[in-house]
Amino acid sequence: MPDQVKYLLDESSIPTNWYNIQADLPSPMPPILHPGTGQPAGPEDLAAIFPDALIAQEVTTERDIEIPQPVREMYKAWRPAPLFRARRLEKELQTPAKIYYKYEGVSPAGSHKPNTALPQAWYNKEAGVKKLTTETGAGQWGSSLALACAMIGDIECKVFMVKCSAQQKPYRKAFMESFGATCTPSPSDETDSGRAILAGDPKCPGSLGIAISEAVEMAAKDPNTKYALGSVLSHVLLHQTVIGQECIKQLELAGDDPDVIVGCTGGGSNFAGLAFPFLGDQLRGGKKRRFVAVEPAACPSLTRGKYAYDFGDTAHLTPLVKMHTLGSTFVPPAIHTGGLRYHGMAPLVSHVVELGLCDPIGVHQLEAFAAGIRFAKAEGILPAPEANHAVAGAFREAERCKREGKSEVILFNLCGHGHFDMSAYQAYNAGELQDYEYPEKEIAMALAGLPPMGN
Ligand SMILES: *Cc1c(COP(=O)(O)O)cnc(C)c1O
Repeated sequence: MPDQVKYLLDESSIPTNWYNIQADLPSPMPPILHPGTGQPAGPEDLAAIFPDALIAQEVTTERDIEIPQPVREMYKAWRPAPLFRARRLEKELQTPAKIYYKYEGVSPAGSHKPNTALPQAWYNKEAGVKKLTTETGAGQWGSSLALACAMIGDIECKVFMVKCSAQQKPYRKAFMESFGATCTPSPSDETDSGRAILAGDPKCPGSLGIAISEAVEMAAKDPNTKYALGSVLSHVLLHQTVIGQECIKQLELAGDDPDVIVGCTGGGSNFAGLAFPFLGDQLRGGKKRRFVAVEPAACPSLTRGKYAYDFGDTAHLTPLVKMHTLGSTFVPPAIHTGGLRYHGMAPLVSHVVELGLCDPIGVHQLEAFAAGIRFAKAEGILPAPEANHAVAGAFREAERCKREGKSEVILFNLCGHGHFDMSAYQAYNAGELQDYEYPEKEIAMALAGLPPMGN
């Protein structure tokens, strides 16, 4: 078909396995450490908060992990997701580059997050768990877990939502509650960690690190409750590889192979989900490609953080992971991009950056929103503010191709739509959105508090 725009696969093309990049890395990722002993953590150290099947997926180096058939069946609700060739955008940018984007906003929650919410809820239900706790920033993850628990049935869902996001996005709470979940603004008075934060700062806007502390604490205190994380951990990145695997098939249909792959990075999962299947091919001797991870300049873990062992949460209840971090006590500016306000980065993405296999860049929110609006006018989809960062990264690559006169193939992840983010667009359209300066002092203070273990 000439000038084809959508590349669609049928349901039989939903991947049968998740792809584990740990099988192909030239050196293994540093282990998770027990915070008390500084020694590698064993499965027993994680058993209070995660079911065995997910702990096994966290550490395995097996390449292909079979997707349980019931999960594949539920994936059919929206997968395979479409791949678009951005023909109108290419004209608008007057670039010789070919631009493709994978659209994960077709999921019922509007982002890539249900790709991991469903299997996480499923493995927990199989293990007899009655209730899942979690945190959410922008609300995408809480919505996805609420949806997954409702689809799977007989499993309760409790979400701690970062307070400033909860105020910006009241409809996310209504969404979660419609699927039967409970949603509490964090810091809350329902946990010791929340109460401790509120005692020090009653007006604290919250952060993902604080909300994680509350959710982990609640799970650790009840044997029938476990905790689910929407990003960062290796098993979460693993589940997201359905994105890249589908893209490989779709680009074969299009007769193209990407030179540059772009994704936004909050905790690293949508970027890894798109990039790792292509990177795995490269590591096994396939085509060499450029991988660009785009983060907000106001919360720049990959570009300005330290590669060190740190806690995943503010109250220091989690094990230690080696990652690019701004310090677990860092509370980022209240940028309109809740999903990218995490102090750390997935250890696997950090490791890949350390190996020189990926180029991270930082983008200010005004550049990101300007790119998102220009994208929307050309392609008709209003992206999530997080995804705007990927769009801005793709624009920079398209501009470079124009300067260099190259017709490279650019692929980026449009990881969610922005239909719940209208207050952010309202602020942008009214000229009220600001660029934040790099929070130098706050980051220095948070980094000074890094744990001594392993650093
Ligand atoms: C949660 C979220 C992100 C950030 O998380 P990653 O793990 O980095 O993918 C980015 N975009 C959207 C749409 C999200 O919902």
